[in-house]
Amino acid sequence: MDHKQKTEQKTESLDFIRTRIAEDVAQNKNNGSVHTRFPPEPNGYLHIGHAKSICLNFGVAKEFNGKCNLRFDDTNPAKEEVEYVQSIQEDVHWLGYDWEDRIFYTSGYFEKLYEFAVELIRKGFAYVDSLSAEEIREYRGTLTEPGRESPYRNRSVAENLDLFERMRAGEFTGGTHVLRAKIDMASPNIVMRDPTLYRIRKATHHRTGDAWCIYPMYDFAHCLSDAIEGITHSLCTLEFENNRPLYDWVLDHVSAPCHPQQIEFARLNLSYTILSKRKLLKLVEDGYVSGWDDPRMPTISGMRRRGFTPQSIRNFCVRIGVAKFNSIVDIELLEHSIREDLNKRAPRVMGVLQPLRVVIENYSADKTEYLNAVNNPEDPDAGTRQVPFSRILYIEKEDFREEPPKKFFRLAPGREVRLRYAYFITCTDVIKDEQGNVVELRCTYDPQTRGGDSPDGRKVKGTLHWVSAAHAVTAEVRLYDRLFLKRNPDEVNGNEIFAVNLNPDSLVTLQNCRVEPGLKNAAPGEIFQFERKGYFCIDTKDSSMEKLVVNRTVSLRDSWAKIEKAGEQKEKSTK
Ligand code: ATP
Ligand code: MG
Repeated sequence: MDHKQKTEQKTESLDFIRTRIAEDVAQNKNNGSVHTRFPPEPNGYLHIGHAKSICLNFGVAKEFNGKCNLRFDDTNPAKEEVEYVQSIQEDVHWLGYDWEDRIFYTSGYFEKLYEFAVELIRKGFAYVDSLSAEEIREYRGTLTEPGRESPYRNRSVAENLDLFERMRAGEFTGGTHVLRAKIDMASPNIVMRDPTLYRIRKATHHRTGDAWCIYPMYDFAHCLSDAIEGITHSLCTLEFENNRPLYDWVLDHVSAPCHPQQIEFARLNLSYTILSKRKLLKLVEDGYVSGWDDPRMPTISGMRRRGFTPQSIRNFCVRIGVAKFNSIVDIELLEHSIREDLNKRAPRVMGVLQPLRVVIENYSADKTEYLNAVNNPEDPDAGTRQVPFSRILYIEKEDFREEPPKKFFRLAPGREVRLRYAYFITCTDVIKDEQGNVVELRCTYDPQTRGGDSPDGRKVKGTLHWVSAAHAVTAEVRLYDRLFLKRNPDEVNGNEIFAVNLNPDSLVTLQNCRVEPGLKNAAPGEIFQFERKGYFCIDTKDSSMEKLVVNRTVSLRDSWAKIEKAGEQKEKSTK
């Protein structure tokens, strides 16, 4: 394949953003360089939607030998906190991306932004308006009606400069004056009807303290911050499409060092999930979850604690791609990406979530055998380990039925099954408590079947996981499920989203689970597959030497293939 063919092939598979950037590079725009940024507002923890933006911005920079900055868009002193600034850095690094020394803060540009505002005033492109917020709203007009010009719109440059300076000096209370761009009150695009550029906010900022009492609006600060940093492509979500003319207007009316290109893409929406920081904050503040890093949260820190890997999240972001129309991605696709990655890397162990005692009557009480178990059939390098076997074991409660229905191939009275890596056992007796609950099984084992194979070719239909009672470690296991019952929880209005919509079973905590002794030494955050049960990880917050706490990351059942197939069929039938 010659070189030209190769690049053509590559271009074919590019999404619309990468295609566009590739064109810019080919035309030597910006001297062929690519510089992007990820610009979070530090008013909450990052979530899976941000991961999409991070993977896109840092990914594009890497693919085009460019750079990506981390910029905190910290222009709203009321809602922003240092805690968020720190968590955001941790999360971006954890996802596998590095801004090197390029960490910036919009607040670091306050002086420069102020100067740009003064430049606009001098050129007659901005004025101080003294209408109240309410009046400004009224004057703005509607989608069908043009706006009206403020009576203050034609103040002289000198008066505007004087007032703006005094706004900065703290002479006025919040809400009395704002700085507005002088554009067009009749514009069909409401964004262009003399948008506010600065407002008075007498609040302490987490970085600049009380140095400022006027703060720039997003539309003014964002494009100029991009320009100050020499950003070439400013990637943002679709709701900013209407703001692009304003982005360009500001840059065209001041002496900006460069003019970045804004390109919009669809934000990620996930089924059964909310991704609004305001609503996520409410979940935390009202105690519906244990914090921003509750493993049920769609935050990066929640997913990390739950046992998701950076690789699996990055794979998910590649799979969903970037497009120009909004849609809801099935959460099953995220789960599929997690399983796919963990299947390769997670060591297999045996863990019994709901233990049922089993006594092997023909096995000596003072004997322990160590049996060979494969650590990961997907990874030949992972090797084997020794698991102890003894007279008293635990198996999973649900693996026994006194009256087994059809197709139940696990243990039942008189039936023989295989214990994984161990022996065939046969159930000979069932012990019950006074209420009739099964509390213990009496079994015999066949010494000829060590390792799980019978020399006479005898077949058994079921293979169960188990642990040795004397050797097992007790653990608390937390089973997590979706936080919301509705596929699109945002469809429910207001606070009902929480009251009506929360899944009451999103967390089920099991005490006295029994796991292999090797887990005693597992480090917080370590991930395992409990055979037949799912992927689990040691909780990084609550697990200790005294008490092992394990989170279920995801069950083994993958429903993605089914959904995908249904989608394909639907597509076929509509063609
Ligand atoms: P919210 O509206 O919930 O507060 P936001 O978009 O204001 O979220 P920011 O901190 O401003 O949050 O987001 C930083 C970057 O991440 C922005 O470029 C934004 O477009 C992007 N982003 C936020 N949410 C999503 C999402 N769901 N999908 C893709 N990108 C997103
Ligand atoms: Mg934002």
